[in-house]
Amino acid sequence: MGLSVFSLQGKLALITGGGTGIGFGIAKAIVEAGGKVVITGRREQILKQAIDELGKGNFYRVNDITNKAALPELVLDIESTIGPIDILVNNAGIHHKAMAQDTTDEDFERILQTNVMSVFALTRECAKYMLARKQGAIIMIGSMAGLFGIDKVIAYGTSKTALTGMVNALVTEYSKDNVRVNAIAPGWIESNMFLNAINKDEKRKEQIVNRIAMDDFGQTSDIGNAAVFLSSEAARYITGVVLPVDGGATVNF
Ligand code: NDP
Repeated sequence: MGLSVFSLQGKLALITGGGTGIGFGIAKAIVEAGGKVVITGRREQILKQAIDELGKGNFYRVNDITNKAALPELVLDIESTIGPIDILVNNAGIHHKAMAQDTTDEDFERILQTNVMSVFALTRECAKYMLARKQGAIIMIGSMAGLFGIDKVIAYGTSKTALTGMVNALVTEYSKDNVRVNAIAPGWIESNMFLNAINKDEKRKEQIVNRIAMDDFGQTSDIGNAAVFLSSEAARYITGVVLPVDGGATVNF
């Protein structure tokens, strides 16, 4: 029997911020689908623990994505010592919670550097190899904060909306070389970023659950499974999509 179209056997994925939260959920799902992963982040201890759990054949690289000068070397190192990168998941991101009037230019720039500029720099570097091989899947991790209005996310929301523009533009240039670019817009997913953002505020938590059509928070595995689908042969004709994975929060007014 042939491989399922959902299988990622023989595929290598690079996942930024893959040691924690949603990134780790994506790494686990890709490994469960038969793929291998390289996860990155700034904290070695966290990455080591994650690799212990993911098992043999998976690797980590300590890397700060905002250090853009180091990205070509990172990608070359992975391509030459581990293998060709078939899947890039631009997951690393930072949050900033503040009203627009309290957001400084420095705050805004910091968010854009991590969530947008570094994503572009790494995408451009990985795409160099993918375009030459005429094969690749790139996934941006956006947010529903980039799809509709939420207060106190001026910089973060803007950064996530920018990823939609990036997907659209890249699709016009990469598609003829069979490199697909999609985004996932997670809703409220139980990860540290989310728990810190609501700051153990039970009342706020209840308000949020009421906003979600399915009456429940998402799990990191929900994003992982969506990432597996978008990276797999099952999605070979899907590019330029921003897929909300949010229990219906985006359409529930
Ligand atoms: P986490 O804070 O757990 O994950 C963020 C990851 O990004 C960490 O592993 C962190 O590792 C890494 N990271 C941050 N900055 C850098 C950097 N400069 N260089 C390299 N790695 C970096 O949060 P989540 O898992 O929740 O978030 C993952 C993605 O999902 C983000 O893009 C976020 O915006 C998005 N998202 C999350 C939602 C949620 O409800 N949780 C909802 C919508 C979107 P380290 O600190 O070690 O560098």
